[in-house]
Amino acid sequence: MHTHNTFDLLIVGAGPAGLSLAARLADAPLSIAVIDKQSEATLASPSYDGREIALTQASTGRLQALGAWDFLCAEEISPLVRAEVLDGASPYALAFAERRGGGAALGALVPNAAIRRTLFERVAKQANCTLFAGAGAAGVEIDAGEARVRLSDGRVLTGKLLVAADTRFSALRPGQGIGARMVDFGRTMLVCRICHERPHKGIATEWFDHGQTIAMLPLAGDRSSFVLTLDARQMREIETMGDIDFAREVERRTGRRWGAVKLDSERYYYPLVAVYAERFVAPRFALLGDAAVGMHPVTAHGFNFGLRGAFALGQEILSALKQAKDIANPAGLSRYERGHRRATLPLFAATNAIAKLYSDERPMARFARGAALRLMNATPGARRLVEKSLSGAA
Ligand SMILES: Cc1cc2nc3c(=O)[nH]c(=O)nc-3n(C[C@H](O)[C@H](O)[C@H](O)COP(=O)(O)OP(=O)(O)OC[C@H]3O[C@@H](n4cnc5c(N)ncnc54)[C@H](O)[C@@H]3O)c2cc1C
Repeated sequence: MHTHNTFDLLIVGAGPAGLSLAARLADAPLSIAVIDKQSEATLASPSYDGREIALTQASTGRLQALGAWDFLCAEEISPLVRAEVLDGASPYALAFAERRGGGAALGALVPNAAIRRTLFERVAKQANCTLFAGAGAAGVEIDAGEARVRLSDGRVLTGKLLVAADTRFSALRPGQGIGARMVDFGRTMLVCRICHERPHKGIATEWFDHGQTIAMLPLAGDRSSFVLTLDARQMREIETMGDIDFAREVERRTGRRWGAVKLDSERYYYPLVAVYAERFVAPRFALLGDAAVGMHPVTAHGFNFGLRGAFALGQEILSALKQAKDIANPAGLSRYERGHRRATLPLFAATNAIAKLYSDERPMARFARGAALRLMNATPGARRLVEKSLSGAA
């Protein structure tokens, strides 16, 4: 037997993006259903997944505005004071540091699991929000008047607007006739925590070496998030290594730049596929988070964009309510789409170009990336733009 439930807004996906939208609308006179196939216990206490999310200053401000930031413990926030980009064995480094605002940090690193936990904690307290956990969206029907979602347990929920925040491989996106540009890099990213002998001094290092890309993201104490990107075939060899051999492999691959290292977490592997939806909206339907823009992680913009999108879409919904309009009015949805495309498309294209240039081992590409670093260092305008984009001000 089906139970019918009627809401104003249906959000499929209680990931960081879907939860941010729900939290943004905490005080709105709306009924919201948040649907996720994961259990409520998992959503409330997500396990560590190896991702340390580099949040821009704009994003930390947004999480503060949502009231989620206050639920983070001090040790979950690692300030990022400086970022350095290295190319191969060259000692030449391109450095970025936030100079405005009295030496404020470029941003902060926060574990993805902590972001999910705190946003969930925030939304769970929200009077206008009902959670449907442990049942995925199995089918969607949309007509002129409403959107209907059938859950895998047979329940049917209706709403005026359906927002799909259901990962970069969104199952709801194609159902609304929306295609997506997918770029498969054929590479895998490994992420884990390591302890190391030499201090990181709060510097994030992105090291584009021959055949591998390494990032060291500074955490509290002499610990970092180690991020290694390799050809998918080479990564399979790393996967078979025991923890001790893996630690020696990290020392070898980093040239002992950080001294001796020890593994401090499980290892997590992410195949690298970037996704950009051809449209972000359809009648009574909007894409949010990775379902709209699934970034290559090298420039650390995925969730920053997801959060931006949640605020932009939330603003359109709030304006519609204020003017007593339909929350799915086409003008509002297309304003969200236009604004979010403008904010994300240039960086999506630039990130893919960087990822490709720095994984290309042909001599011309190697020459071009060395030259690119020097050119960027010598061009204050270009450096400033990257610094602004790192802090979220661009
Ligand atoms: C290694 C790595 C490092 C990263 N580093 C950074 C960084 O430094 N900075 C940054 O800004 N971003 C970073 N990102 C990107 C960031 O993690 C993502 O952008 C963000 O997690 C996406 O959030 P989301 O809510 O859109 O999707 P997801 O986190 O994928 O959540 C989607 C949710 O939808 C649910 N779901 C899916 N299908 C259904 C269905 N049919 N029915 C119900 N529920 C469903 C899932 O269970 C899940 O809970 C990184 C990503 C990776 C892989």
